[in-house]
Amino acid sequence: MSQFTDRVVHALDDHKLSGALKNATNLLWARRLSAFSSLENAEAIRDIARNSKIEILQDLGENLLKFEKRLKENGCHVHWAIDGEEANNTVVEIAQKHAVKKIVKAKSMLSEEIHLNEALMAADLRVVETDLGEYIVQLADDHPSHIIVPIIHLTREDVGQLMHDRLSVPFSDEPETLAGIAREKLRQEFLDADMGITGANFGVVETGSICLVTNEGNGRMVTTLPKVHVVLIGIEKLVANLADLDRYLKLLARSATGQKLTAYTTIIQGPRRGKESGPEAVHVILVDNGRSAILGGDLAESLACIRCGACLNVCPIYKNIGGHAYGDTYAGPIGSIITPGLKGLSTWHELPAASTLCGACQEVCPVRIDIPRMLLKLRHNTPLKSKASLGLQLAMMGFGVIAIMPKMYKGLTSLGRWFLRLLAADGWITSSFPPLRGWTKVRDLKTPARKSFQEMWQDRGGNHE
Ligand code: SF4
Repeated sequence: MSQFTDRVVHALDDHKLSGALKNATNLLWARRLSAFSSLENAEAIRDIARNSKIEILQDLGENLLKFEKRLKENGCHVHWAIDGEEANNTVVEIAQKHAVKKIVKAKSMLSEEIHLNEALMAADLRVVETDLGEYIVQLADDHPSHIIVPIIHLTREDVGQLMHDRLSVPFSDEPETLAGIAREKLRQEFLDADMGITGANFGVVETGSICLVTNEGNGRMVTTLPKVHVVLIGIEKLVANLADLDRYLKLLARSATGQKLTAYTTIIQGPRRGKESGPEAVHVILVDNGRSAILGGDLAESLACIRCGACLNVCPIYKNIGGHAYGDTYAGPIGSIITPGLKGLSTWHELPAASTLCGACQEVCPVRIDIPRMLLKLRHNTPLKSKASLGLQLAMMGFGVIAIMPKMYKGLTSLGRWFLRLLAADGWITSSFPPLRGWTKVRDLKTPARKSFQEMWQDRGGNHE
C-alpha cells in the first residue's frame, strides 16, 4: 500500500473523523448558500474577480515590481525569497537583527508550507500561534486539516481534553470556556512578543497595502503590539486595486465562512508614523517557492486561488478523508493541484487521481478555477511508471475495445447487470463476495436497474444506436 492509500484507509476507519467532517462541511456549505443569496450580482462579481486575477497573473513580474515600489514608498522593507529555505532564513535574520526572542503568529498557510515554525525553533526563537484553531494545532503537535478550519478534524471534546492535558486546566467541552482559556493564555503572549508574523490574504498593487482578514482579532494584535511585523506573502496574492480588493473580500468571506464580511479586515500600510500605534518596522517577504514554475505551465490558473476552502467543503473525497490524508499543507481539490505543482508530480501523482471529477469544486469556486481540467491534465502527465496497476490497465484496454462494438457492449453489460442483480439478491454484494468486499467496504454499490438506460430509451421510442 502506498503512503497515500495508507492515510486514506486510516481516515476512512476513523468514524469520529467522518462525523466531525460531515458536520463541519455541511454547516459551512449551508452558510455559504445563505450568504451568497444576499450578494447582488454575485455571478457578475465572480466573473470580474476571475478576470482581474488572471490579468494580474499574466503580467505578474511587472505587478510585483510595482507592488515592491509602493511597499517601499510606504516605509516597508521588502525581501524576495526564491524558496522556503530562503524565506525562513530571512525571517531568522530579521529576528536576530532586532534582538527578538518571542514571536506571535497569525494564521498563514504559507508559513505551514515552508515549515517556518521549525526553522524559528531551530534558531532558538519562541513562537506561538494565536489563531484559536492554529493554537490548538500547535498544542497538539499537529497540522491544520482545512484551509479555513484548521481543526475541522477535532471535536470539542478532543479540544477540551487537549487543553486539560497540555495546559493543566479543568476539562470542559464548552466552546466559550475553551475560547476563554485560550484568550487568557494568549493575552500575555501578545504583550511579551517582540515580533509578529502574519501571512497576507491580498497585496494591493496600486497602494502597496497588505490585507489580512481574521475573525478573532488576533491579526490586529500580532500586527500592532510587537515592535517588528513580518509579512510572508506568496507572489500570487496580488490584486490590482482597492476596488478589486472589495470584490475579493465579499467573495472570500461568503465562500469561506458564510459571512458577508470577516469580523476583522486589517489593511496595513507600513510601520507606525508619529504617535500612531503599530510596529516600528514592517518587513514584507515575497515568496516564490515554486509558484513561478507553475505560472508558466498548465496549472497557472491554480494561482488565482484565494484560499477560501469552499472546494474542500463540497468535495466528496475531502468530506470522507479530511485534510491529513492529502499528506501536505494544501488539501482538497485545489491541494491536489497545488501540491504536485509545487513539489512535483512524480511524488504526488496520487492526489490528482483522488477525485471523482464531479465538477462541484469548479461550480462553487468564487473565482471559477477550472479544477477538473487541471486534475485531468495532471493525470495525463503522470509518469508511466506510476500509472495504474497492470490489471487496471488491461481492464481499461479491454473496455476500450468493447466500447466501440455496440452489440458486444450491450450483450456484456446485460450479462453484468444480471450477475450483479443475482449477487444483490443473495446479499453477496455487500458482504462475502471476495472481489467486491474491498470495494464495498467504503462505498455503496447499488443494485443495477432491471433495464439499462438504452433499453428504457428504446421503449420510449428512441433510437438506441
Ligand atoms: S480553488 Fe477556489 S474554491 Fe478552492 S480554495 Fe481556491 S478559491 Fe476557494
